[in-house]
Amino acid sequence: MDTRNEHTLRWERDVVAWHDEADVVVVGLGSAGACAAIEAAETGADVRVLERASGGGGTSALSTGQIYLGGGTAIQVACGFEDSADEMFQYLMATCGPEPDEAKIRLFCDESVAHYDWLVAHGVPFKGSFYGEGSYTPTDDCLSYSGSELTHAYRDIAKPAPRGHTVQQVGIEAGGQLMQSLIAAVEKTPARVDVDVRCESLVVNQARRVVGIAAVIEGRERLYRARRGVVLCAGGFIQNREMVKRHAPWLARCKYRMGTDGDDGRGIRMGMSAGGDAIRMHTGCIVLPFTVPKGLLRGVMVNRYGQRFINEDAYQTVVGEAALVHHDGQVFLIVDDAIYERPFPPTEFAAVGETIEELERELKMPERSLQNTLALYNAGAEKSEDTVFQKDAEHLQPLVHPPFGALDYRVEHSLWSVFTMGGLHTDTEGRVLTPDGYPVSGLHAAGRTTSGLAAQGYSSGLSIADATYFGRRAGRACASSEP
Ligand SMILES: Cc1cc2nc3c(=O)[nH]c(=O)nc-3n(C[C@H](O)[C@H](O)[C@H](O)COP(=O)(O)OP(=O)(O)OC[C@H]3O[C@@H](n4cnc5c(N)ncnc54)[C@H](O)[C@@H]3O)c2cc1C
Repeated sequence: MDTRNEHTLRWERDVVAWHDEADVVVVGLGSAGACAAIEAAETGADVRVLERASGGGGTSALSTGQIYLGGGTAIQVACGFEDSADEMFQYLMATCGPEPDEAKIRLFCDESVAHYDWLVAHGVPFKGSFYGEGSYTPTDDCLSYSGSELTHAYRDIAKPAPRGHTVQQVGIEAGGQLMQSLIAAVEKTPARVDVDVRCESLVVNQARRVVGIAAVIEGRERLYRARRGVVLCAGGFIQNREMVKRHAPWLARCKYRMGTDGDDGRGIRMGMSAGGDAIRMHTGCIVLPFTVPKGLLRGVMVNRYGQRFINEDAYQTVVGEAALVHHDGQVFLIVDDAIYERPFPPTEFAAVGETIEELERELKMPERSLQNTLALYNAGAEKSEDTVFQKDAEHLQPLVHPPFGALDYRVEHSLWSVFTMGGLHTDTEGRVLTPDGYPVSGLHAAGRTTSGLAAQGYSSGLSIADATYFGRRAGRACASSEP
């Protein structure tokens, strides 16, 4: 999709008549839009939500419904885990870099317990249970370690606590449940939702204040006036190949683009046309799917030169980022007969051999490269230590039982999954900022239309955490703006 010639800005002077109006117009009914609408409506504003699909949900409804929350939520306490806003802050500042948004992270950590309570009060169900088998929760359990909290070097920076809160599945998948609950909460407010409405352009007045939006319904244009402002919650741009190639070419190489058709970057481009800055557009959540079953963490991840480059127990997005950006996505997981289990998603062997030397030859790696790597790794694993990358002893086991195999996690051969993390630059109130740091009058944004908590390093649940929490703030701030 080449979008360079599309018009994403209109002038109020060209508007002959508005078809409809509200105090606050929210674009998109995913998790960010739903939370923005609820807060704006609860503030007393007249709210209109415009959704391009035939129903709300967006990518949030497709998700596994994990939300990163901590600081001592009721579930953490019930499951016997200690946490504090400060430990959570230290962890996020260390992982969400480089140059994470400290103001957003501080506020989010300080208010995380209250945000959890808000979600519960608005009908989002969580079960008071802990799942210890990995980040992804296939059961209806709630709490899990969903990032690199337990691993080197983060376990030394902040006291580990599980912070992934997965919404309880009640007959449907967790992401669907999250959105069903949030949409039901929107419906309890006076906010009106119009579906099958594709927003195309912001409307600005002479002073460049955003005063409305132009949308298309069944091929016909409809103009909505926004008395207090517009909140863009229209998702990211992973489905816009042209934008991904231009801004985040690494992500273009991955097979599974995590998002709906709505993730076409229109929200970001609308915001930019009104003067908003887009930041960190090269960043994304990069999932290298090698961690299920958990026993595979005992394998050794190497690049095409037979070299290890990370502790394999780091969170899979952290391994994915290192593998893709620094090792060209050309990586293999070395296993032996003792630790091998069928991976999920299914992954083929690039090579097998009776010896590591044979495997090295089959993979066309430099002579002795893989052999030396395995010799060093096995010597350490014998003593339950990884002197190079400090993988946790729980996942250390010498690989000495033939046959040996190299699971093929090269980016062209494996189901790497990605979504974009870059977007409009916003402050803690969701105000869209210009490149000079001034708010674009009348314009707020949240969710994947914006660059949020994670500049890069991603822990699972951060996207929906960011979308719901800053969606709320954006909705409230917009509703409180001067008309
Ligand atoms: C399989 C999968 C699993 C995932 N698991 C997790 C997880 O467990 N935890 C986590 O944090 N993240 C997860 N993610 C990522 C996460 O779901 C998204 O990043 C997040 O939900 C984005 O929320 P949002 O509100 O910004 O966007 P969305 O939920 O996509 O909402 C945007 C809405 O805007 C609408 N829209 C778009 N353009 C327009 C327009 N021009 N006019 C009107 N409406 C428009 C869309 O139709 C959509 O309804 C997962 C993603 C996938 C695909």
